[in-house]
Amino acid sequence: MRLPVSARMAGRSARLALAMARRQAQPYSMVFVLTNRCNFRCDYCDIPASAGAEMSTAEFRAAIAELADAGMGRAAFGGGEALLRPDAVELIEYAKAQGCFTSLNSNGWKTERFLDRLAGCLDMLVVSLDGPDDVHDVVRRRRGSYDRVIRVIQAARRRGIAVATISVIGPWNEQRVEEILELAKTHGFWSYFQPAYLDCFAHDAGLHPGIDPAMLVRLADRLTDAIARAPVGSSPGFFDRLRSAPHFSDCSRCTAGKYFATVMPDGLVVPCHLTMEQGSYLNGREVGFVRAFLEMSRPSGPGCAISPYNESDLIFSLDARAVIAAVRRAMSSLRPAPHGVTRDAVRSSATTSASSTALRGTARSV
Ligand code: SF4
Repeated sequence: MRLPVSARMAGRSARLALAMARRQAQPYSMVFVLTNRCNFRCDYCDIPASAGAEMSTAEFRAAIAELADAGMGRAAFGGGEALLRPDAVELIEYAKAQGCFTSLNSNGWKTERFLDRLAGCLDMLVVSLDGPDDVHDVVRRRRGSYDRVIRVIQAARRRGIAVATISVIGPWNEQRVEEILELAKTHGFWSYFQPAYLDCFAHDAGLHPGIDPAMLVRLADRLTDAIARAPVGSSPGFFDRLRSAPHFSDCSRCTAGKYFATVMPDGLVVPCHLTMEQGSYLNGREVGFVRAFLEMSRPSGPGCAISPYNESDLIFSLDARAVIAAVRRAMSSLRPAPHGVTRDAVRSSATTSASSTALRGTARSV
């Protein structure tokens, strides 16, 4: 017999809580990178250069089913541009049918045509937004991409899908943060900010050379100042980490690989994309996705400035400010209640299980 979504989520939250109490790993929040292919060639991103083998639809479905059986409560889909795969929406529908909170990262170019279907299975759409049109279209090297992003945000909100944006910050848009926050207020989305990295898969390469620690301190100060009057997604713990650049935190203590992780297009299971070249990680297609998760080696390094990863790590580490911020997001009018769950039920679960509600309110990006 298949349990209703809310019962399955409650069971998964309880399983997570037990694992956390025992300090055991538990695959709760998983990112599925469906492809590294992309229809854009953004200035700061080298992901498309790594495009290669991809699992079939059946293999991705098997991965989702296995991890959902093992307690996965959150399934995030990204790329590259995930919607380049014709089965992307089908896989999101499948994860939703397994009772997971679902999110999708997209550059927004092809997204609008899928929204009617996504409205039935997607809890949060995460789109890239690098500034007003004169910045966004230049960084993204695609005229008209800003207009499409705004259009897709409006169309998603009309359909009741929560929206978050990720803005990758560098010298090209550092001065435009407040304009992005104005857009967030106008259109009703959560805004996340993170500095550009030099190499998307190599932590050691460090940040984009145009970024210095002073810029990150300024960014942290401005976002801290804006929290009270604009929908800033990140919580204060992330800003504290930004202020400690370039040693943001400690990868060996990060909960990536413990409570959240990433399934790469070919089935490799890694803590996060920045550390994927560090270890000899297992491929879920060969050994099973749960085993590949549980046997993952611990990453090392000075932490990172990827905002949704940090938010997940802070929540799983039970940082009080991150948990409160996540509850705030979950309760906000910008965030509809999960499918099949009334807003009252969300409120009640927030009071009885703040951390599990918090986890469902987190956005993430690849
Ligand atoms: S701190 Fe960042 S780079 Fe390090 S393991 Fe965690 S998510 Fe990965």
